[in-house]
Amino acid sequence: MQYVSTRAAKSSTSQAQNFSDILLGGLAPDGGLYLPAEYPQVTGAELDAWRKLSYAQLAFEILKKFATDIPEADLKALTAKTYTKDVYRNAREGERAEQITPLRVLEQAAGKGGQTTLMLQALSNGPTLAFKDMAMQLLGNLFEYTLEKHDAELNIFGATSGDTGSAAEYAMRGKKGIRVFMLSPHKKMSAFQTAQMFSLQDPNIFNIAVDGVFDDCQDMVKAVSNDLPFKAKQKIGTVNSINWARVVAQVVYYFRGYLAATSDNSQKVSFTVPSGNFGNICAGHIARMMGLPIDKLVAATNENDVLDEFFRTGVYRVRKSAETYHTSSPSMDISKASNFERFVYDLVGRDSERVRALFHKVETDGGFDLSGKPGSDGDEFKLVAQYGFLSGKSTHQDRLDTIRDVADDFGITVDTHTADGIKVAREHLQPGVPMIVLETALAAKFNETILEAIGVDAARPAGFENIEALPQKFVVMTNDVAKMKAYIAANTGL
Ligand SMILES: *Cc1c(COP(=O)(O)O)cnc(C)c1O
Repeated sequence: MQYVSTRAAKSSTSQAQNFSDILLGGLAPDGGLYLPAEYPQVTGAELDAWRKLSYAQLAFEILKKFATDIPEADLKALTAKTYTKDVYRNAREGERAEQITPLRVLEQAAGKGGQTTLMLQALSNGPTLAFKDMAMQLLGNLFEYTLEKHDAELNIFGATSGDTGSAAEYAMRGKKGIRVFMLSPHKKMSAFQTAQMFSLQDPNIFNIAVDGVFDDCQDMVKAVSNDLPFKAKQKIGTVNSINWARVVAQVVYYFRGYLAATSDNSQKVSFTVPSGNFGNICAGHIARMMGLPIDKLVAATNENDVLDEFFRTGVYRVRKSAETYHTSSPSMDISKASNFERFVYDLVGRDSERVRALFHKVETDGGFDLSGKPGSDGDEFKLVAQYGFLSGKSTHQDRLDTIRDVADDFGITVDTHTADGIKVAREHLQPGVPMIVLETALAAKFNETILEAIGVDAARPAGFENIEALPQKFVVMTNDVAKMKAYIAANTGL
């Protein structure tokens, strides 16, 4: 399996890469994102056989189609070690931890003209109670494996406003050859999120609280990463959501959800995905391109509706940071969707020169328009329906109402991002097609809004009861790039 950049010059197939070559990197050198040269296909016989597999076995079967340069026995050991009930131990009452991403039926809902089933797929039973663990835990094991093989080391440097940073730290803690330097805005994360990260005492984890806001943290990451000699000397890498291995790890649970919700392959299901950077739902698109019988893929956004706008109108218009709202589903507060380019590549018929021109226009003009209207940049919006995409958005009030409804009707408390998903899913129910909403975090992470919605605290999984009281390890730094570099160098010893 070879990987190509979404912006590759047409003539050059020479730049194709293996899975292991792109594992530790981010963007392709030409600024594009990596995708398989062709999507591997799944047969009906394979789907039948996969119905009986455990999550770890299923992950192995799917990953081996993408990571063809890793020996199968090694991949099998890595997936077995990653997807165990000991890691995904935060299953709630009524869920079975060994299923890793258990499905639960919420309701037999009346869709337009008939009955359908609304379900939740729990993706948040891992160590940090958010779906990012699903991919990041695999990444931690893949990184350690690859680095060990080459006797190499890696220093992960990133910025977080919450979920990504903690998922990365819990995936990398104690891993040989890896250090994590994670910037976060000082005193701007919730008490729970801060405690989750800062209570880690592992010597390879470095929490850096920056006096400033999240954008200041990101600017520092950019400034350090743009110093190429420093980056090379310090062996700096990232784990942001454009990482291909993260996307592919997420493909697995679409298969698991489909197989759990159906009994034979003539049935279809739809998924609604709380979306920000288009990483999670991009994995759904890939599963569909592999032949998984997905009917609709519904992108649910909050007030930051870049993606909803595109799927309604064909206009992709990134926002300025001043136009980005701070909402009660903060992990979806994005101004541009960094994985969206992967879908656009398929939408324009894998024409990498078009992709390069369109995303150049994002830089110069803030977006592009594929609506087909006079003066637009193309008419591919008319093809979007063929890919099954729909969308919707929600507000703070919608989240409160949905959290309250779901608690009243089904006795479970969902988090704010999942509430965005449920609200939008209900607008797109089709008779006879089960709708699976991906549950992207547990409510305990966003307790402030849960209290506002239902007046009682969200339940905390065992072991998280007193997390805020644990000793915390972090340094506070001013927004000073030179000092940051000196801190990194002092701690890597490189
Ligand atoms: C990251 C995140 C999202 C958004 O996922 P994308 O892959 O960026 O679309 C949604 N919900 C939660 C809880 C998250 O942490």
